[in-house]
Amino acid sequence: MALLHLPRLRFSMLTSSHSLSSHFNPFTSHKFPCKNTFFINTCTVFPAPKSTLTTSEPIPISHFPETPVEDHIEFSLEKLFVPPETDVSSDSANLSTRILKGSNIVLSKYARDAQVLQAEFVKSSVRTEDCPSDGLPEFALVGRSNVGKSSLLNSLVRRKKLALTSKKPGKTQCINHFRINDSWYLVDLPGYGYAAAPQELRTDWAKFTKDYFLNRSALVSVFLLIDASIPAKQIDLEYASWLGQNQIPMTLIFTKCDKRKKKKNGGKRPEENVNDFQELIRGFFQTVPPWIMTSSVTNQGRDEILLHMAQLRNYWLKH
Ligand code: GDP
Repeated sequence: MALLHLPRLRFSMLTSSHSLSSHFNPFTSHKFPCKNTFFINTCTVFPAPKSTLTTSEPIPISHFPETPVEDHIEFSLEKLFVPPETDVSSDSANLSTRILKGSNIVLSKYARDAQVLQAEFVKSSVRTEDCPSDGLPEFALVGRSNVGKSSLLNSLVRRKKLALTSKKPGKTQCINHFRINDSWYLVDLPGYGYAAAPQELRTDWAKFTKDYFLNRSALVSVFLLIDASIPAKQIDLEYASWLGQNQIPMTLIFTKCDKRKKKKNGGKRPEENVNDFQELIRGFFQTVPPWIMTSSVTNQGRDEILLHMAQLRNYWLKH
């Protein structure tokens, strides 16, 4: 994938952020999704369709007794993802009870309606213009081939084979839309970094996925999947840096967190790889983006991802 070199990026991220500061969540360099302000350079070309959805009034977090929040973990504020309209200053004593388990994400009043009741494959598109035009909010899953994307997708919708659709010959290089609860989309993008793919094809993927990221007005956030059972790969770092540089909202999903390498073989625990990855991308963002640790074997992180998607989505629909 033809991405910019890392050293150049650090400089451009820091300079470009000034002009965008009014759209930034004050707690993070990562812009919180808002369909009116997100695609600053592109929304004039592809205006966001008006949503036909209505949102009910936010329900306080305390109404979700089953919410999977972190019990004991201690985070410094600058390492947390604090959604807008979320006051953490007055409630610092109870903050840890509002952090999603195995993540750095604070729950906001928008975290509701997270359950997946219905999921269906809608279509495969090869161009952004061919994607569904109903304006429903969507989340794109992307990652290196073999990172566990199909397994995660199936785990999110609790179906064994839904993501097989995306693996069928002819669909693997497409933008695959799955409609959830008739109200939002999960989008499966082609895996990158597949060494056996001809260079020509790899370039094509880069081109159309980049176009999708830059021009898809219904895109609420990219979920970039990173294998936590192995050390960071250069191509993943480049992908994260490109998303950061282009102001594309991103959540990091660390996969395969159930896999434990033996210390004596020089392997690191998933937690260590997660920390290392954060360190390596620190320069690309003013503060850390949201991240969640997951496993499709144990279903770790499944409910947390859905709650995080729900709060991003509900905020996006309101703004
Ligand atoms: P994709 O190419 O990104 O869609 O990856 P797949 O979902 O097909 O998974 C690639 C391989 O990783 C398969 O052998 C899966 O069984 C395995 N895998 C996927 N997710 C996990 C996970 O959370 N834990 C473990 N241990 N293996 C996983």
